[in-house]
Amino acid sequence: MSDDPRSYETFLRDRRASILERVADAARRVGRDPGEVEVIAVSKTVDADAALLAIRAGWRLFGENRPQELGRKLEALEGRDEAAGVRFDMIGNLQKNKINQVIGRVRLIHSISSAHLAEAVSTRCEARGIVADVLLETNVSGERSKSGFSPDELRSAIEGVLDLPGIRVDGLMTMAPAGDADAARRTFSGLRELAGELRGRTGLALRTLSCGMSDDFEIAVEEGSTLVRLGRCVFDRGYNLD
Ligand SMILES: *Cc1c(COP(=O)(O)O)cnc(C)c1O
Repeated sequence: MSDDPRSYETFLRDRRASILERVADAARRVGRDPGEVEVIAVSKTVDADAALLAIRAGWRLFGENRPQELGRKLEALEGRDEAAGVRFDMIGNLQKNKINQVIGRVRLIHSISSAHLAEAVSTRCEARGIVADVLLETNVSGERSKSGFSPDELRSAIEGVLDLPGIRVDGLMTMAPAGDADAARRTFSGLRELAGELRGRTGLALRTLSCGMSDDFEIAVEEGSTLVRLGRCVFDRGYNLD
């Protein structure tokens, strides 16, 4: 972040406009309505002051990957006029012992990566009398380092997960291999096809496809993403968008 908060805010505002333009262009290239695609500003690497500047610059939807940092940001923004209508999504690995720090505080949990975790979140939501909107994180690329359901695990687990009373499954989430545009495209199209197959089998809408990060969001939009999660290209002045 810069020393001069005003000029950082200007950077954030200009950058936001370029990002939204690129998202809209990518959507139009494939005949999609740009209004179908939401953008989350992933604030995990910046402090609450920078998040506040991002709010002033126009961002309303944020993503965090650690429950503790989520709590810190929510507390810092609480009661501030600018933060009215601002929501956070949980996008990172969720440990069972941290579930209670997240449910009821976020708009959407992107990272339900196993049937066990789905059950644990559902149980804790039921105990609180709430229903959490969630995405099922799917390891489409098959990389060992990535968490999530394999496509086959998801095919066999989906019916059971849909029966859980404390969660509502809005769609799927994935992460593409880094630094390989072709592999990213295959991953995103694979997610779209898997969602189509599961819609046919379950009758569920699975409306949300969360995929695309700073390096690959335009490809993701071309392949059907409805929710891109952008960190570095939103907040990092050193990130070259071209
Ligand atoms: C950090 C993170 C992002 C944002 O990545 P950038 O490359 O900084 O855009 C998106 N999704 C998840 C799950 C992340 O952890």
